[in-house]
Amino acid sequence: MFLLRKKTWQRWERLVFACGLSTLTIAINAVGWLQPLEWFVVDQFFRMRTSQRTDPRILIITIDESDLNYVGDWPIPDNLLADFLATVNSYNPRGIGLDVYRNLPVGNGHDDLVEVFDSTPLLVGVEKVIGEVIGPPLGADPEHQVGMSDVVVDDDGRVRRGLLAVQTEEGKRKYGLAMRLALTYLEEENIYPNVVNDRLILGKATLRRLQHNDGGYANADVGGSQVLIDFPSNPNFFDTVSMTAILNGDVSDDQIRNRVVLIGPIATSLNDFFYTPMSRTVEMPGVFVHAHIVSQVLESALDGRRVLHGVQAWIGMLWTFLLTCIASQIFYLIDQHKQTYRRRSFLVIGWLVPCLGLGVFIIAYGLFNFGYWIPIAAPMLSISCLSISSILRQNKQLEGLASYDELTQIPNRRTFDGFLQSLVNQEKAFVLVLCDVDYFKRYNDTYGHLAGDACLKAIAQTLKKGTRNSDLAARYGGEEFALVLPDTDIEMTYHILERIQKQLASLEILHEGSEVNPYVTISFGIAFVDVAKSITSKELIAEADSALYQAKRLGRNRFFYQS
Ligand code: GH3
Ligand code: MG
Ligand code: MG
Repeated sequence: MFLLRKKTWQRWERLVFACGLSTLTIAINAVGWLQPLEWFVVDQFFRMRTSQRTDPRILIITIDESDLNYVGDWPIPDNLLADFLATVNSYNPRGIGLDVYRNLPVGNGHDDLVEVFDSTPLLVGVEKVIGEVIGPPLGADPEHQVGMSDVVVDDDGRVRRGLLAVQTEEGKRKYGLAMRLALTYLEEENIYPNVVNDRLILGKATLRRLQHNDGGYANADVGGSQVLIDFPSNPNFFDTVSMTAILNGDVSDDQIRNRVVLIGPIATSLNDFFYTPMSRTVEMPGVFVHAHIVSQVLESALDGRRVLHGVQAWIGMLWTFLLTCIASQIFYLIDQHKQTYRRRSFLVIGWLVPCLGLGVFIIAYGLFNFGYWIPIAAPMLSISCLSISSILRQNKQLEGLASYDELTQIPNRRTFDGFLQSLVNQEKAFVLVLCDVDYFKRYNDTYGHLAGDACLKAIAQTLKKGTRNSDLAARYGGEEFALVLPDTDIEMTYHILERIQKQLASLEILHEGSEVNPYVTISFGIAFVDVAKSITSKELIAEADSALYQAKRLGRNRFFYQS
């Protein structure tokens, strides 16, 4: 019960603990419990960026409520759509993506629309393949003119990754709308995709397929070929023009020429919106999500722009291990520092954890800007746990300092008082023994104060060893000690004290000044508390003290009990 945890936590013990803790947090992360936190952090990263760059390769033709009013019908009748697409094509774009399902004829002029698909190889329509299936546009060449419109939504309802392609059951490759458009664009530059293992090599780009536990993801469903979408910070990243403007000819030639044109609804009533990391509250039209993926693929393939990758799972784990181990060593150094220790180093650690957190956040943000999403929730959790354990440990040590005697390393007077009082309150039978070293003043005079100290230490340890764990051996003050022996009768007390005397004698601590023995001896005064006897601790100490006085008077090196 009163074992002193004097030993400070060794460096290697801390390392082992840090490794165990990191393993635990990695496991917690693998279960997915930290996932919302990782998403929250990476969303902050997206929002913290301030670049104002734009993408000159892409134009988005939006269909909003006023366009719907202008057209007067939704879905847009086939003949009108065919005219519209032919008009767009007449400006010589390098790809047209129609993010509107046209799997069924609408109104008149279906043949016109089929004809437009037939005569416009760079026109790409959409189909939906995941969940509820929606077929491709009638008349579109399934190989080159159809892309999947499916958008991958994370469990928190946000889009962070794009589906580039899937493998069908027949072993065929189906491309997403964005990838299809990008490939159409790149074909003109003779750039074709090349798949090597889980990497897609496309011009200057190497796109690594997202894996289940990349970046901050925990067991994500990464079917097909998915990549993280690197949403740029500029809300006006793309040029846009309304459908009405095109129909009215209010558009200049070079707004469309040589660009990838995506056509899609942004009208609230058409409900094609997704939450993205870019805003907590404002959703992004689906056509913009696709446009961002096109932009990302083209920029990386043509300009060699860095692609945002989630770091591989093993790197994430290593990073968690490393950070936790480094933090454990920092806490160790703080604990070692006597000065800070006195000022209660848990205050220092209390400050240090947010600082470390900020440091980790800054490093992770830096890496994010270099194109790497590295997990931060797992390392932060293990660092926090580490700091809490460190603080708890120090608290315990401080408690130890307050309740233990510095010289003899056994409980001090304060602990003794508390223990004695608790026994008195419980009205249990127990024994109190006061012990006083015989002729100790002369011992000091003969051998010096330092030798006296060493002698007191040896006596303290003898008393501690000679008593049970449930007993208390404390330094009462000076060269006086106290034993509190619960559930003990006088017989047993004699037995214990004899054993202590023997043990002390066996140490053979020379004491030339003693008149009773060549070696150091102790006198004991015993007080016994009966269950029936109601007594205060003060009275009890006085009784033991007077018994001790008797023991001294009767010649020392003995115990006395006034029955
Ligand atoms: P008696 O047998 O009657 O107990 O004789 P004594 O000399 O032990 O009696 P006294 O109580 O007068 O002496 C106690 C001495 O214990 C005086 C003091 O110098 C010494 N002492 C008290 N605390 C310490 C300590 O922490 N270290 C050392 N070295 N000596 C101490
Ligand atoms: Mg004394
Ligand atoms: Mg003495």
